[in-house]
Amino acid sequence: MQEQPQKEPQRKSPFIVSYLIVLLAIMLMNAFLFPAIASNRIKDVDYGTFLRMLDEKTLTTVQIEDEQIYFKDKEEKTYVTNSIPQDLEIVNRLRDANVEFGRVYKQQSLLATILQNWILPFLPLFLIGTLIGRKMNAMAKNGGPNAMMFGGKNQVKQYVVDAECSVKFSDVAGQEEAKEALAEIVDFLHDPKKYEEIGARLPKGALLVGPPGTGKTLMAKAVAGEAGVPFFSIAGSEFVEMFVGMGASKVRDLFKQAGEKAPCIVFIDEIDTIGKKRDTGHGGNDEREQTLNQLLTEMDGFDATKGVVILAATNRPESLDPALLRPGRFDRRVPVELPDLKGRESILKLYIERVKAEPGIDLNVIARMTSGASGAELSNMVNEAALHAIRMGRKLVAQEDLQEAVDTVLAGAQKKNAIMSDHEKKIVSYHEVGHALVAALQSHSAPVQKITIVPRTSGALGFTMQVEQNDHVLMTKEEILDKIAVFTGGRAAEEVKFGSITTGASNDIEQATKLARGMVARYGMSDEFDMVALETVQNAYLGGDASLACSAQTAAEIDAKVVAIVKAQHEKALRLLNENKEKLDEISEYLYVKETITGEEFMQILNK
Ligand code: ADP
Ligand code: ZN
Repeated sequence: MQEQPQKEPQRKSPFIVSYLIVLLAIMLMNAFLFPAIASNRIKDVDYGTFLRMLDEKTLTTVQIEDEQIYFKDKEEKTYVTNSIPQDLEIVNRLRDANVEFGRVYKQQSLLATILQNWILPFLPLFLIGTLIGRKMNAMAKNGGPNAMMFGGKNQVKQYVVDAECSVKFSDVAGQEEAKEALAEIVDFLHDPKKYEEIGARLPKGALLVGPPGTGKTLMAKAVAGEAGVPFFSIAGSEFVEMFVGMGASKVRDLFKQAGEKAPCIVFIDEIDTIGKKRDTGHGGNDEREQTLNQLLTEMDGFDATKGVVILAATNRPESLDPALLRPGRFDRRVPVELPDLKGRESILKLYIERVKAEPGIDLNVIARMTSGASGAELSNMVNEAALHAIRMGRKLVAQEDLQEAVDTVLAGAQKKNAIMSDHEKKIVSYHEVGHALVAALQSHSAPVQKITIVPRTSGALGFTMQVEQNDHVLMTKEEILDKIAVFTGGRAAEEVKFGSITTGASNDIEQATKLARGMVARYGMSDEFDMVALETVQNAYLGGDASLACSAQTAAEIDAKVVAIVKAQHEKALRLLNENKEKLDEISEYLYVKETITGEEFMQILNK
């Protein structure tokens, strides 16, 4: 069950804001402060004021020039006024008033004028510019954004591995095939001579392909660690710069440095940011294309026997430029897939050994619950479990902590003090039990593992967890249909019990629709369209967006078919729940009181 999403206010980039503030301050300073300083020194007054001050005897010194009279008052303030040549009396009046004649003001030299009017006002601007420039360069060196904005040479990060504390293959769990594929490269880096002697040419590059968080970076580091060679790492996005030609020069730099350190590994993360298919049409990205061309040139240029091996990672291999995949470039492709049941168990084992845990924790159960989780998510789960253990005041991580961590990572943390009215809580109970009951009453559904109505920070108001006994690779048509029925079960329970419906089913609706659409358009599971692909999948590693590849008329027919499938399953769910209304009531009341129940408790009440 899903909460209504709320829009978060958009945040502006802090950098732009501070830059604007500085700019504004400088403009204000130039407009007000500098003229004020300049005019503070000599005050321009009219001749009348001069005479008045003379009569009031506030003048001390006076200097008469051809066109101007400079004078000082008792407070040593300097004034200037235009002299009036016809006023011949003035000298006598001055003498009567006992005013001293002397130097009051010295005409500035041209240099001083230039300095004062042109250089000084811009000094702060210059200083601030330099400061920002420095800061940005430091950021650039740390791999931050906006590198090179103010010039300065950007350096390639370099990690020199030492034998003891580096990543090894044993730190990567579950990716046996990928390790095997890369073992040869390790061997080559160990002893390039052996390969050279026999005349073998090793691949210059290997492309690690797989979804995010599956350990591609880790694997590349492990290759360097195993071979004991330096590891250069750069993200593809770091090449793409504001100015055309910068990225290309960075590529040149990188390969120059790598060449000096050979044998070594150069790792380019997210290579798709520079390696996208080049446009043949208009509107290409010059900078990116130049960078890519430079990369290709460098890869062709260097001597493969030297021992520079380029590993690159991507999660959208289909978008790469074919030129990159040609022999002599990234001609090896190493899939780094999401871990299977065994893989997940070994990753969990690897990380649980790094924390203090109670003996006898059943990792298999956790692994079975986390189908589809990546290595990064699993390592995160173990960490969450350790944090939970501390929160609970335990010294060792327990099974319970891991269980909670799975919920946290899959559904967000438990939302403390979430305000749910009593009636809402009741609706959520029925909704979740609806899912669980429909699942249990069908023959092709995975067993229920857990039902909870404790709200999660992700917005889930509760959830029903089903766990397959084994890893599933294929799904039958019956299984998909039953799954759709389970998704509609939540809403169906609301209808059966309360006769009204809520917004809580939005996520269920989305999932059910996706499955039904997949059946029709991708899996060839409808009678009408037989085995015709009506959709093509893009970004298979990034959630698999699909786009329709059929006529508008067919698209309308697909929509109709999808509606029919979901509707049929919804009706099935309604029928099942109506037939088992007492069980629905009984289990929902129980869940309402207990808030979280296990699959066994659920089955016990159901089979009573
Ligand atoms: P990718 O580069 O594929 O996005 P990373 O290599 O950055 O993924 O993985 C992120 C983190 O997840 C790693 O630092 C590691 O802690 C953990 N991890 C991912 N896959 C594995 C694995 N197979 N074995 C051990 N740890 C893993
Ligand atoms: Zn639901």
